[in-house]
Amino acid sequence: MPAFMEPFRIKAVEPIPFPTAGQRRTALAAAGYNLFRVPSRAITIDLLTDSGTNAMSAAQWAALISGDESYAGATSFENFQTVVRDLTGYDEVLPVHQGRAAERIVLGNLLGPGEVSISNTHFDTTRAAVEAAGATALDLPVEQTSPPSSFGGNIDLARLAERLNDDRVRCVVLTITNNAAGGQPVSIANVTSVRRLCDQYGVLLLLDAARFAENAYLISEREPEYAQRTPREIAQLVFTQADGCWASLKKDGIANIGGMIALRDPELARRCREQLIAFEGFPTYGGLAGRDLDALAQGLLEVTEPAYLEYRARSARWFGEQLEDAGLPVVQPTGCHAVYVDAARLLPHIEPHRLPATALANELYLAGAVRVSDLGTLVFGRAVPGEEDITAPRELVRFALPRRVYTKSHLEYVAEVAAAVAAKATQLNGYRITEQSASLRHFTAELMPLE
Ligand SMILES: *Cc1c(COP(=O)(O)O)cnc(C)c1O
Repeated sequence: MPAFMEPFRIKAVEPIPFPTAGQRRTALAAAGYNLFRVPSRAITIDLLTDSGTNAMSAAQWAALISGDESYAGATSFENFQTVVRDLTGYDEVLPVHQGRAAERIVLGNLLGPGEVSISNTHFDTTRAAVEAAGATALDLPVEQTSPPSSFGGNIDLARLAERLNDDRVRCVVLTITNNAAGGQPVSIANVTSVRRLCDQYGVLLLLDAARFAENAYLISEREPEYAQRTPREIAQLVFTQADGCWASLKKDGIANIGGMIALRDPELARRCREQLIAFEGFPTYGGLAGRDLDALAQGLLEVTEPAYLEYRARSARWFGEQLEDAGLPVVQPTGCHAVYVDAARLLPHIEPHRLPATALANELYLAGAVRVSDLGTLVFGRAVPGEEDITAPRELVRFALPRRVYTKSHLEYVAEVAAAVAAKATQLNGYRITEQSASLRHFTAELMPLE
C-alpha cells in the first residue's frame, strides 16, 4: 500500500509519560490488574477508547473563544443547529451532554413496557435505555461470513421482516457504524431496504449516528454506486432515509464532550424537549456550554473532509497490518475507529473463564504502557455463584484510535510492543476476578494473575 500521512500539522503538544517496567508492574498491581483503574499518568499510548479522546483543530479552539454563554437563545446554539440541520435534514435539533442522555430521552419517550426496539446491534448504553423503558432490545445483525462481507454492520433484512409482523415493535435503530460488529459499516442498500420495511409496517426508523462520517466514508469505498459521492453527500443520503437520529458527538463530533438528538417529527421533539429541560438543561444548551456547541459545529464540518476520512481509514488499515506483522490475529476487515485482535487465537492455552483478553491487554500494558480495551469474558461474561463464569462468545481486545491524537510513529511503537508480547504468548497466564459488581463489572473489578 502506498504511504499515507496525517493531513494536519501539530500546533499544541502534550508530553506523554514513559513509566519504567517497575513502575508499570506497580501501577497495574495497584489497579487490581484492571486497566480502567490505571491512572493516565502511568500510560504512554492510550488506545482505550475513541470516545471523547479526540484532538480539536485550531478552528475548534478558536470557536471555543467565541462561544456565547447566554442561558437561552445563544448564537452558539444557532450555529450548532444550522450545521446539524444541513447535515441531517432534520429540523428539530436538541443538544445533550452525551449520547446516552439522548438515548434515555428518545427511547424513554417512544417505548413503553412490553414494546420492542430492533437494531443491527444496540450499543450497550442503548440497550440499557430500551430496558429502562421496560421494553425489549432485539439485535438482528447479519451473520458474519468468511471471507467477511463489505457491510458486516448491516441488519439482517429477512429476520427483520419477520419480526416486524409483531405489533409491539415501535422502532428500528441502525447503529452506524455498528460498534459491536467491529465498527463495520451499514450500506445505503441496507438502509433503503429498512426504510421500505418500516414504511410497510408503520415503524419509526432511527439512526444511532455516533460514527456517521466513518460509515459514509466506508460506503464510498465499498458500495460502488456511491464511489463518486463525497462522504458528506453520502451521510446526508443516509440521514434522508431515517425519521431521526441521536448521536454521541464524542466520536465524529471530534470534540471531548457532547451529543445530539435530531428529529423530523415536531410532536416527538416537543415531548423530548420537556425531558431535555428536566434532565439536561434549557433546549438551546442541553447540558453543554455554549463554547462546546461552537466547537462541535466546527467538528461536524471537519469530520466529513475527504482527506481526513481517507487518512482515518487508511491509518486504521495500516495499523491492522502492523499488528498482524507483529504476530497478532487481527479481525478483518478493519473499520475506522479501532483494530480488533482475537486473544483466544493468540492465547489458546488460556481458557475463556481465565480471561485471555484481559491477559493480552494487561501484558500490552506491562510491556510498554500501552492501554487497550478488553472485550472478552471480563466485559461480556457473567458470574455464577459457586461456578465458573458464563464466558463471552469471543475474546477480543480493541485498539481504539482517538481522532488526530497519535501519529504513525506512535502506532509503530504500539506494534513493537505488540510484537514483544506476541513473542512470549505461550508464557502468558490467565487471571481470576477477586472483586466484582453485579453489573458493568469490568469498570471496577479487581483481579489476580494466575500462576
Ligand atoms: C458512544 C456510543 C454511545 C453512547 O454515547 P456516550 O456519549 O458515551 O454516552 C451510543 N451509541 C454508540 C454507537 C456509541 O458509540
